[in-house]
Amino acid sequence: MDSNSDYIPIDRLSLGNQIGEGEFASVYEGSYTKPNREVIKVAIKTLRSEQVEMNKTAFLSEAHIMLRLNHHCIVKLLGLCKGQTLFMVQELMPLGSLLHYLYEHQEKINPNYEFKIWAGQIACGMNYLEEQRFVHRDLAARNILLATQHQAKISDFGLSRALNAGHEYYMALQGGKWPLKWYAPESYNYGNFHHKSDVWSFGVTIWEMYSFGSSPYGEMKGSEAINLIEAGGRLEQPEACPDNIYKVMGQCWQYKPENRPSFKNLLDIFCGDSEYMNIRELL
Ligand code: ATP
Repeated sequence: MDSNSDYIPIDRLSLGNQIGEGEFASVYEGSYTKPNREVIKVAIKTLRSEQVEMNKTAFLSEAHIMLRLNHHCIVKLLGLCKGQTLFMVQELMPLGSLLHYLYEHQEKINPNYEFKIWAGQIACGMNYLEEQRFVHRDLAARNILLATQHQAKISDFGLSRALNAGHEYYMALQGGKWPLKWYAPESYNYGNFHHKSDVWSFGVTIWEMYSFGSSPYGEMKGSEAINLIEAGGRLEQPEACPDNIYKVMGQCWQYKPENRPSFKNLLDIFCGDSEYMNIRELL
């Protein structure tokens, strides 16, 4: 990794209960005693034992990217720790994933309030990521975490990549388990990823929000969803979604990337327009 200052000595960490599990990693709640002796709660992420050899490079690449990012709408990586295995020590997001929150706490959510705040915060974090020339490539409600009911942050940089001089990133898609239902046409057709393909995924992510965590394209297989898109079809307007927000989703799902809005445009839509609440006051 970059420098020794990125490493946290193991005796400054204590590991608590498991709070999450992904395909590759297990996540625990824990505490970290900072050099100034302040004790803070953290999330400690480690590769599941059967994944250690196979995915260590990907794990380090995710950590490497997260260490370079510093924004209030992106989950902060505080450092790495070498124990029996390698740990990523992240800020704790006590309310867990947005996807889980959407179907577990529907009654606490006001679509005209929380959804606009979260959409604005995701656009804000993605706009920063674009400024830093990173493509996320896995933007989805499952990868948005909640610090509080009014603070969403982007996480899971396992598939993220830096773009050189703004060029597209190419990735052969054969074989792997790819989140095709979140992918733009240029990504599932040619393996091309750019900020505008993240914009397509942003549209799917806010669709998941307004559908209270429903699965995009329902029971369809990825290949069937692709056929639908190629034939000009798109995800339907969720019941809780106002026409003006569905119009924004439609702009994110323009077939040609250049016809989609930028994250800066989306940030203005959700945070700048007087028709919407100015969420910056809440940040
Ligand atoms: P994937 O299967 O998407 O590749 P992964 O194996 O990399 O995921 P994560 O998605 O990063 O694992 O984490 C799994 C779960 O752990 C998340 O859905 C979330 O519930 C929890 N989690 C992850 N990071 C944090 C955090 N910083 N604070 C609180 N909970 C977290």
